[in-house]
Amino acid sequence: MDNKLNNSVAEQVQYIKNQAAQAAAACGRAPGEVQIMAVTKTVAPEYVNQAIAAGITLLGENRAQELLEKYDRYNKEGVSIHFIGHLQTNKVRQIIDKVDMIHSVGSLHLAQEIHRQAEKIGKVMPVLVEVNIGEEDSKSGIAPQQLMQLLEEMSKLSHISVQGLMAIPPICEKETENDQYFCKMEQLFIDIKQKKLDNVNMNILSMGMSRDYQRAIQFGANVVRLGTAIFGSRQ
Ligand SMILES: *Cc1c(COP(=O)(O)O)cnc(C)c1O
Repeated sequence: MDNKLNNSVAEQVQYIKNQAAQAAAACGRAPGEVQIMAVTKTVAPEYVNQAIAAGITLLGENRAQELLEKYDRYNKEGVSIHFIGHLQTNKVRQIIDKVDMIHSVGSLHLAQEIHRQAEKIGKVMPVLVEVNIGEEDSKSGIAPQQLMQLLEEMSKLSHISVQGLMAIPPICEKETENDQYFCKMEQLFIDIKQKKLDNVNMNILSMGMSRDYQRAIQFGANVVRLGTAIFGSRQ
């Protein structure tokens, strides 16, 4: 990887922690409530390990193949790995024993396959439901109007455990334009939490990336997923 930041990975991690803590404090939240995920796509393991050495305890992986290639080279002690990318059903088997959570479950079909593969290895896989909050044709994730129905179906699958929601809002010109989507996500998160469905927990709201994580925190995000802000721009 060509690290285009002038700062070291460790300096960036420190900087982001401060920014996230400030954003949390600004809306009356405890800094410890917000977890910072280092998104590792295209990043060489040595830089990922620098982030871990600087205190990152959560990695986000986008591609099954890349995860398998890099997995053994991460210093994984005390580190959780979450899968955040588009997941094809035929890849579930390859990652099921390597990840601690899957953020990108947007269909019953995928949920069923995760359930099936998790059952085989005697695991209950924590998952987030990805919501296509901007209702974009190009994006995966469940449409907001279909979310409740999907959750009801997923709640019956004993080898998955819904832990919350994830979103990738549309790319907007101004960062404040995403507030409307963050706000809708927060509302869904709160509404579903109040419904108290069996086997459906609303503990994690995964939203906010390098350009907008501080705003996402204002809308209740408790996992922010950062690539560029930690490792510099990708090729
Ligand atoms: C790449 C990616 C990120 C991180 O994006 P940055 O803008 O580099 O912070 C976060 N979430 C998902 C799902 C991604 O694919």
